[in-house]
Parts: sequence; C-alpha cells; structure tokens
Amino acid sequence: MKLRNILTSVVFSTVIFLFAAAHILLPDREISVTERRPLDQLPKFTMQSVMNGSYGDKLEEYLLDQFPLREKLRNLKALWQFEVYGQSDNNGIYLVDDQVLKLDSILKEDEVNALISNTNKVYESYLQGMGLVSIAKLLNAQSRTSRYGRPWGKSSIMRVLRNSTYTGNLLLQKTYSENHLTKRTRQNNGELPQYHITDSHEPIISLQQFNAVQEEIKRRADKHTHPGMKQKTYPFTGMVVCGGCGKHYRRKVTKTGSVWICSTFNTMGKAYCPSKQIPESILVSITEEVLGSTDALYDKITAIRAEKDNTLVFCFEDGSETVKRWQDRSRTESWTEEMKEAARQKALERSKTNG
Ligand SMILES: [Zn+2]
Repeated sequence: MKLRNILTSVVFSTVIFLFAAAHILLPDREISVTERRPLDQLPKFTMQSVMNGSYGDKLEEYLLDQFPLREKLRNLKALWQFEVYGQSDNNGIYLVDDQVLKLDSILKEDEVNALISNTNKVYESYLQGMGLVSIAKLLNAQSRTSRYGRPWGKSSIMRVLRNSTYTGNLLLQKTYSENHLTKRTRQNNGELPQYHITDSHEPIISLQQFNAVQEEIKRRADKHTHPGMKQKTYPFTGMVVCGGCGKHYRRKVTKTGSVWICSTFNTMGKAYCPSKQIPESILVSITEEVLGSTDALYDKITAIRAEKDNTLVFCFEDGSETVKRWQDRSRTESWTEEMKEAARQKALERSKTNG
C-alpha cells in the first residue's frame, strides 16, 4: 500500500512538473479549434488591475485556457464522466468493452424536427392532390433539404411516400465509428444506444395516412394507363443511376425483352455515355438476391449504381454498399424463336451465294 502511495506521488509530481515546463516552453495558442472560441491571452500587468483584483481573475482564466494538453484533458474528462458517473452520452462518445466509440450522427433535436415536418408536408401535399414535381418544388422553395442537404426531386419525394418505416419505429443512429484513428464505420446493432422515434414521439405518419397514400399512388398510376391494359409498375424507376454520367436508367422494350438503359446512352448514343444496358430479368434477380424481393427497394436502398464491367452497387440507407456482378446472357439464350429462324435463313442464304 505504502509503495503504491509513493508511486502515485512520484507519477503525479512528474506530470505536474512536465506540464509546467511545457507551459513555459510552448507558445500560447489563440484559438481552440474544437471549442470554436478564442482562448484567453496573458493579461496586461498594471498596478490598477492588481489592486482591484481583476489581474488575478484574468491570470487564472489565462492559465486555464493556455494549460498544455487541455484538448487531451477535455477528452479525458469525457471518459471520466462516462466511467465515474456512468454518463451514457458525452458528446456522442461511448465506452464499450474498453473501446472508445463515437456515434457518427449524434441525434440533434432540430434535425429530427425537420425530418418529421418534411415527411408530414410530403404526405399532406400528396393527399391534397399535388404531383411529385410540385411537392419537390414547394419544399425546395421553403429551403427544406432532402437527405445529406440535397434538394428535393421526384424520386426523393416518391421514396418518402413509399417508406413504411415512418409508420413504426424509426431507428436513428444506425452507424458509429470504431475509433478516431481508423474511422471505420460499423453498423450499430445495439452496442450503442439507438434512438427510436416512437420512444418519445408518435409515429411520424399514421398507418391510415400511409395506406391512403399507397392507394392514391395506385389510383394515379391507373389513371395514366389505358383501360383493359395490364397495369405495369416499374419498381426501378428513379432507382438505377448511371455510374458513367449520373443520369437515371429508364426502361426500354426491345426485341429480346425489356432492358434498363442509361437515358443519355438511349437518346444521345455511345459517344456521350458508353454505358451498358441491363436486361430487366437480370436486374430483378440480382435485386432479389440482395434484398429478398423488389418490394423492399424504396425502404432499404437509396440507389442502385450501374458501374463498368457489369457491376451493380446497391447503396443502402445507412451508407453501406453491396457490390454485385452480373453475367451477360449468351446470345442464343436471349434470342426468340423468330430470331433464331431468321438467323438460320440468313446462314442458308450465305452458304448458297458462297457455293
Ligand atoms: Zn450514362
């Protein structure tokens, strides 16, 4: 016990001595970047200020601000508060299994309020009869931004309208970084607190409101199709983004079946965007492989990026990505019977003229 006391005193004396030495040797700093404020500077020594005591006060503030390693000590204080007082959240820093973890997005009340307000506005406007483009224009005019501060568009409005998570538990704080050095992002599977909107709020959108919107989406889609024609919905509309030029892919019916094709490539040609079309059947099967079904498209992912070399990148809500490669169908496999017959005839003709 005695040895421990001596050791403690020696360590502390050393630390205090080093701090004092560092304070004298290091130049004073003017601002603290992490606190975003100017630091107190050495006060002017005047007889008056010493007499009325203000010099002492100022000197104390100066020494506190210019104390070496104060940034490090601020971090230590955060850990200390966590350890000793069991404080669960100190600026988003958490200690789990001796690891210091930091939440990537610390829940900010104004952000949650904006999310609730925007979502309500989108649902209300749509049920009042407004179109997707008008709603997007309205929100942009009110300086409301979509995710990551981006302006609203047709597809982001549709995504909100189709997102059923607003009717239930909305899970925030889905990722955290492992530590400050690696900055590796990890899924928050409950190691750190997760914030359910419903813990303190009503669901953003009531189930009735959500169902009414789904009915309305269907009604509007039906209105645009001719009676008697089978209603076709394209779950990939606005979802597939060209990795080459950034435009959306659109559906195109070809002799060999439906394909999804970059709109730049489709209208301007290969010189403007050398992207490749994807057969719809392949797009569907890969999506089912990644998500289970195409129904989950709007709930789980923000975009499918079509990259070079038959690569599809599924971008999830939480920022993670899943990369998939697809195989070209062999030519004969994608040919219809008529096409095979036409090829046979052509081959026959060719052999006749040659022979
Ligand atoms: Zn393109």
